[in-house]
Amino acid sequence: MNLVIMGPPGVGKGTQSHLILEKRKLIHISTGDILRMAIRSGSDLGKKVQAVMNSGDLVSDDLMMELIKDRLSQDDVQNGWLLDGFPRTPKQAEGLVEILDGIGIGIDAILVLRAPAEEIIRRLAGRITCRACNEVMNLIGLGGVSPVFCPFCGESKDPKRSKPALYQRADDKEETVRHRLEVFRKKTLPAAWILEDRYPLHEIDGNGRPGEVTQRIESVL
Ligand SMILES: [Zn+2]
Repeated sequence: MNLVIMGPPGVGKGTQSHLILEKRKLIHISTGDILRMAIRSGSDLGKKVQAVMNSGDLVSDDLMMELIKDRLSQDDVQNGWLLDGFPRTPKQAEGLVEILDGIGIGIDAILVLRAPAEEIIRRLAGRITCRACNEVMNLIGLGGVSPVFCPFCGESKDPKRSKPALYQRADDKEETVRHRLEVFRKKTLPAAWILEDRYPLHEIDGNGRPGEVTQRIESVL
């Protein structure tokens, strides 16, 4: 079974991906993993990636396509995969269709996790992280009060930098979350609609407990 999972930040994509992978014994294919694997392999493609990374540039769409094609052709993924975090743009979606046609395989289901923007902002904007132990916690779960001491490790200050231990990551700030949601809506959703022309697409309601969302996914697979 070949699956693609898409969703805005904070919708629970990571959790659901993990559960699908465990249950169906699929190979997880994410762009981050692909880049790391390519570099580690020392192949010509890997050397290209390393050069781009060293120069501080972003990996171009063309190079990413080569990497995806290479990854999807390897032996270990022939029994099924879950593609996560790709495609992010309509151009990448068109490229992916071309690659799959070239290899002669398809996608069994595209899972698009959705949740209202305000719900995602509420979830993410409530998150705080501990600099001392890296635990992530939610102010909502902590009753909405901002604690001075980390409930996990007990630190109130980062031992290394004497800053407060608990802080909100830049990625979780409301303004950043709103921007990432807009990028998802304007670029990634159109990519999903391009794939939908060729493969079955299911919009999944991402609200509720992880187990409820998993059931919704299972009911369409
Ligand atoms: Zn802590």
